Amino acid sequence: MSNKHLETRLIHSFFDRKKHFGSLTPPLYQTSTFTFENAEQGEARFAGRESGYIYSRLGNPTVTELEEKIADLEEGESGLAFSSGMGAVSAVIMALIETGDHLLISEGVYGCTYGLLELVKKKFKVDFDLISMDQLDVMEEKIRPNTKAIYIETPINPTMKLVDIESIVAIARKSDIKVVVDNTFCSPYLQQPLKLGADIVVHSATKYIGGHGDVIAGLAVGSSDFMQEVRMTTQKDVGSVISPFDAWLLLRGLKTLAIRMDRHCMNAMFIFEKLSRHPKVTNIVFPGDPSFDQYDLAKKQMRNFGGLISFEVEGGKLAAQKVMNNLSLVQVAVSLGDAETLIQHPATMTHAVVPEEERLKMGITASLLRLSVGLENPQDIWCDLEHALNLF
Ligand SMILES: *Cc1c(COP(=O)(O)O)cnc(C)c1O
Repeated sequence: MSNKHLETRLIHSFFDRKKHFGSLTPPLYQTSTFTFENAEQGEARFAGRESGYIYSRLGNPTVTELEEKIADLEEGESGLAFSSGMGAVSAVIMALIETGDHLLISEGVYGCTYGLLELVKKKFKVDFDLISMDQLDVMEEKIRPNTKAIYIETPINPTMKLVDIESIVAIARKSDIKVVVDNTFCSPYLQQPLKLGADIVVHSATKYIGGHGDVIAGLAVGSSDFMQEVRMTTQKDVGSVISPFDAWLLLRGLKTLAIRMDRHCMNAMFIFEKLSRHPKVTNIVFPGDPSFDQYDLAKKQMRNFGGLISFEVEGGKLAAQKVMNNLSLVQVAVSLGDAETLIQHPATMTHAVVPEEERLKMGITASLLRLSVGLENPQDIWCDLEHALNLF
């Protein structure tokens, strides 16, 4: 289907409608297992001589539809679906590493990804360096003979720092190092890392891909060989598989991804302009800000600037908490990419597990708030924010 535009591919299905009574939408196969016609067929399926489903942890038609769709959207060879974004992140990282390996990680990665890295360091002696990837020469110096992969998030939560995917790929290529990109903040609609040369893309599909705040799920896309290895090891045997119903919800959510993202981006631009003129907002980070350090890079590697804005208010943690407590339309919650506008306080919420010193180095101060701009009327969102800002 890759000859059609992304907006079209988001909507159209891969399954054969004729085999499903002409069903317009992908059927939901809410089943744990699949019956064999006879013992020999069961034997042939297990031996891999006959294709077909066996048991839903190993594959399910609704899940297959989603996996084919995400591979198509990211323009990779093969996709896999997981029961959470962390399921995808951990399955990919665990498949890549062996004891004694080293990883380069972009500074400010998702809190639980950091937690996972600490865990594999302690348990499996896989070392890692957290580095800011804007100085490529500094980065190159950090590469060791045992560096297995470079793991990037861009833009990074909540500081919105970008990593230049193409430049990182160019460095990694010289040493046969794999590049993994967590594309959660953009979705394939705003950024396609594989087209920029990355090897593997992971998503928390809980966010923009699901888009409706009703499912926890993850996705990964890469080469057929690598994804097959993940499927048969760190997914099948570790067990982070998506439920058919959650896969079905994601297929439903994906149909509107393009129009939702357009609206998220439009609303975020509107809110950014309002926030940047408010006297109590002391600092604001948004890739769509023309004076943002990496504005040009954002324009180069992203289709649009996304729906996330971080900003600081005068008065530290108490002031930040006061703003959150004074909101009524905007909901105080972690997560992002939902129809509802959400606000959270990274220092005490998503990044509370990161040591304070590291946190401050990344720019996550006690005054920083992160806003996931939703799909409401932007005037209503601003009205609520302005009211909360004016109250303290
Ligand atoms: C939420 C998130 C994750 C983890 O995803 P879950 O679905 O919550 O497991 C990973 N990376 C990023 C950037 C995220 O925002």
